Amino acid sequence: MLAAAPALSADESIRPTRVEVDLGRLRGNLAAIQAHVGGAKVMAVVKANAYGHGLVPVAQALVVAGADSLGVALLEEALILRQSGVTAPILVFGGIAETQIPLFIRHDLTLTAPSLDKLKLIDDAAAAMGVRARVHLKIDTGMERLGIHFYSAEALLEASLRAQHVQVEGIYSHFANADAADLSHARLQLERFQEVLRFYERRSLPTPQRHIANSGGILQLPESHLDLVRPGIMLYGVYPSSECARSVVVQPALTWKSHVAYFKVVQAGFPVGYGSTWVSDHPVRVVTVPVGYGDGYFRALSNKAQVLIGGKRHGLAGRVCMDQIMVNLEWGTAYYRDEVVLLGQQGGDQIRADDVAEWAGTIPYEVLTNINARVPRVYHDS
Ligand SMILES: *Cc1c(COP(=O)(O)O)cnc(C)c1O
Repeated sequence: MLAAAPALSADESIRPTRVEVDLGRLRGNLAAIQAHVGGAKVMAVVKANAYGHGLVPVAQALVVAGADSLGVALLEEALILRQSGVTAPILVFGGIAETQIPLFIRHDLTLTAPSLDKLKLIDDAAAAMGVRARVHLKIDTGMERLGIHFYSAEALLEASLRAQHVQVEGIYSHFANADAADLSHARLQLERFQEVLRFYERRSLPTPQRHIANSGGILQLPESHLDLVRPGIMLYGVYPSSECARSVVVQPALTWKSHVAYFKVVQAGFPVGYGSTWVSDHPVRVVTVPVGYGDGYFRALSNKAQVLIGGKRHGLAGRVCMDQIMVNLEWGTAYYRDEVVLLGQQGGDQIRADDVAEWAGTIPYEVLTNINARVPRVYHDS
């Protein structure tokens, strides 16, 4: 709900355009992942507003359902969770600014140490506060994003043994292509990671929690599950790519819907929408639906996407506007306030995040995370 909205009743304050999240589906997906990874722990990844599903309600539901920990990208996301009373361990994946370190420590958040410099800053800050900071070391095994290169990693592992105010609870890496049909690069990354981990064996030291598997790794590389897995997209019931194996059955938890706001007959030759890009050569029925790119419904879906009305698929007519779309019913019927499903199930048909991604020329991750704050989230349980 919008924080600045004036006083409206519960009914009035919810737009017909809304996201409905099925918490039962999320729990089911978590359970399916837990069953698939055997004894490995599960860190539920809830960054980017829980992939558009709503950070706090989703994190709370997953922790209650047995997620061992949470993963986010930013300190800000972790702080919102703490302020909402979430006490589960939270790992922040992203890079850290020196000034943020005391905040991490004060809120008992787990830091990612991707370099010798950052490790030292964390150790110094924790020493000044008289506590030990929880840390996961980050090893770059073939993505060139964040982390010490696997071929230089020994120095970081050594330094972490000497750092007196750091508790190294984990060590991790991240796959670049674990959702691809060709797993050769992912296998190479896993081998490099295993080689780094032999450091602990050589020194007869206990190994911190080892983790590398995102959804692609969970689905396609059982040998990558190690001590802990980090599912994101598959928790939400969406597969990371079309070529990725579907070795765990998960169900989409999100429905994005709106309603018919206006109905009309458009005569032949009368163009629809900005730019007049859509014209019919025969009379058609067209409805207007109050959702647009201002909500995160991509403008790239113009003249391409389909929506469900009355259990049937209908195509967009013309460009997506900021706040509205027009849908061509041909000779189908629809009435004011009939449900329109942009993403999700209606009747016997379903529009998947993959479908929307294909129409918009992107990936399902971006479809979900792009649904913005103007769209209220409503939760129910199945
Ligand atoms: C986003 C992210 C994940 C989850 O990836 P999915 O492909 O959504 O499963 C796991 N680990 C890290 C470090 C991430 O940034």
